[in-house]
Amino acid sequence: MTNKKDHEQYILPEGTQRNTGRNAQRMNILAARLIAETVRSTLGPKGMDKMLVDEEGNITVTNDGVTILKEMNIDHPSAKMVIEIAKTQEEEVGDGTTTAVVLAGELLKKAEELLDSGIHPTIIVKGYRLANQEALRILEKTAKPINKEDKETLIKIAETAMTGKGAEENKEKLSLIIVEGLLELATRDETNLRSNISVKRKIGNNASESELIRGVIIDKEKTHPDMPTKITNAKILLLDTPLEIKSTASETKISINTPEMMQSFIDIEEKTLKNLVEKVKKTGANTLFCQKGIDDLAQYFLAKQGIYAIRRVKRSDMKKLSQATGAKIISDLDDAENTIGTAGIVEQVRTGEDYITLVKECKNPRTLSILIKGSTSHVADETARAVEDAIGDVATVIQSKKAVPGAGSTEILLSKKLKIYAHTLKGREQLAVQSFAEAFEIIPKTLAENAGLDPINVLTELKHAHDANKNEEGINVFNGELMNSWQEGVIEPLKIKSQAINSATEVATMILRIDDVILSEKQKTRNEPKEL
Ligand code: ADP
Ligand code: MG
Repeated sequence: MTNKKDHEQYILPEGTQRNTGRNAQRMNILAARLIAETVRSTLGPKGMDKMLVDEEGNITVTNDGVTILKEMNIDHPSAKMVIEIAKTQEEEVGDGTTTAVVLAGELLKKAEELLDSGIHPTIIVKGYRLANQEALRILEKTAKPINKEDKETLIKIAETAMTGKGAEENKEKLSLIIVEGLLELATRDETNLRSNISVKRKIGNNASESELIRGVIIDKEKTHPDMPTKITNAKILLLDTPLEIKSTASETKISINTPEMMQSFIDIEEKTLKNLVEKVKKTGANTLFCQKGIDDLAQYFLAKQGIYAIRRVKRSDMKKLSQATGAKIISDLDDAENTIGTAGIVEQVRTGEDYITLVKECKNPRTLSILIKGSTSHVADETARAVEDAIGDVATVIQSKKAVPGAGSTEILLSKKLKIYAHTLKGREQLAVQSFAEAFEIIPKTLAENAGLDPINVLTELKHAHDANKNEEGINVFNGELMNSWQEGVIEPLKIKSQAINSATEVATMILRIDDVILSEKQKTRNEPKEL
């Protein structure tokens, strides 16, 4: 890192540090590669877990790339750019986060070699972009169509996402739940599948008892102990205003001078609340979800009427309740006509120390939930993360209808085809395309390494098989042999791969184009990458 040169003091504030040219590139590449190195050991079914402990001592044990990176609190600007692609990958498609990051790291490593041999970054960027386009074209051409009716393949896609993860043990059952849930949603709306299915955790049971809830899970218990714990044939009222006495404006003062006045004041309050609860009862509802508060006395009256009520329900949950039960959210109890929704069952169940409320067996719900059970919160959390990945994969493939074989086979195919493509180019970009092609080998190589196999041997065999046009050949990480990935059911959505490749290219080229890093006083102490 160089300190400001004399002439820079005219434009840069005191204390600014500047890093230019090759030095800036080297630092940025190093930081980005460190990020990739960190998550590399988690890739694939045999990847290891990481234990993350935050400032408060909370522990997360996970194998999920994006979770690790989110928890790490990284500060370096180009490292952060790499983490962003994992987050984007997670948001857009829900799986393939580690792949995207590992690939970005390898693209940068190869770029560093090219830079060392004197190739200008703009040439590398140009070559990488050409290679990216060609890779996406090849993928699109080789991917296989997947029909919504092909439930068996959808289940395999879900299982591929969960193999070796927290959900491994119950992946058959969980895959079925995921596929059935998403297919049910897809009959109504294929576009927002992922946002219409939520995953909740429940501690205290075995993961094999996880279930699909045709409705909503609310992280809250009934407000009063005397309320029923279970309502069958629930008639549901959704209210977004408080069930309380309206507070008097702050300027108004009520002076109470005698005990009688006090008593009559309390009587009036009690009567008002009783009336409100009467109104709830008159709507025909036996279940009330209130987005705001419910007065203690009102809770008592509700309990007496046998009504199940929850207060301070999150706005997003109110919306889901409406989508699942058909109830309309109202603000005034006088407008309750034709707004009541229904659910087969509303019940309070225990999870660990807490209680949650299940709103289930809804007719034609537009939103569904998966209740993940696990013996401890760590198990339940990691299972839920794997289930969320699988939901991402299945939802993606239902929407974009194409899939590719996994276990490193697609990467080797891309590598092989891109090398052929490189030879068709004339300029120095050829070298960058060649490097891009080689970078793909990091995926099978890492899968092999993480499985304790000899990466060189595996890679050699794999390339050999692909040279003999066995295009779907991948690594069986469980026995070290090669397998036809598609036939063995290791299948991934096309879009997971294309998104990962695209964002890895984007971040790598963005980092390569930077040749000047100007750090303000505040940033500079935190942003120096540590040794690899
Ligand atoms: P990501 O965050 O990128 O999804 P994962 O840890 O889920 O990372 O690993 C995904 C990789 O594991 C993919 O390359 C996929 O093809 C591979 N994979 C998944 N299941 C298997 C399997 N049964 N055998 C070999 N490779 C597998
Ligand atoms: Mg995955």
